[in-house]
Amino acid sequence: MEHTPLPGIDARPSPAVLQDFDRLYGTGCRTCDRVLCGHEVVFSLALGFKSAPRCLACLAQGLSRRPGELRDEVYRHVQDRACFRSAWGVANEREGVAGNALPACLWRENLDAPTVTPPALT
Ligand SMILES: [Zn+2]
Ligand SMILES: [Zn+2]
Repeated sequence: MEHTPLPGIDARPSPAVLQDFDRLYGTGCRTCDRVLCGHEVVFSLALGFKSAPRCLACLAQGLSRRPGELRDEVYRHVQDRACFRSAWGVANEREGVAGNALPACLWRENLDAPTVTPPALT
């Protein structure tokens, strides 16, 4: 499958990412006002929307992508970068996601089936 690079990939060290994560955690989507979960905050940071985080549906709409496809693609970026991966781990912890499973808040039945497998915990 072809993947176009995503805009604004942010690769700052993790303390800055974790600070942004805490600042945005529990705030609302700048488009639809729905409260963001931690995973959506990480997605927004990974896509460079640190001053205007959005929920998955609004991110996908803004980028003209299918939500399930964008979700799996951004997830791969997150797992590739230690700074985002650590913030993702914090989101998993806060939302009670067991081990390193794909969180049910974003991998829902009404979205595409996952095309990614979470890496094993080491
Ligand atoms: Zn939204
Ligand atoms: Zn979540």
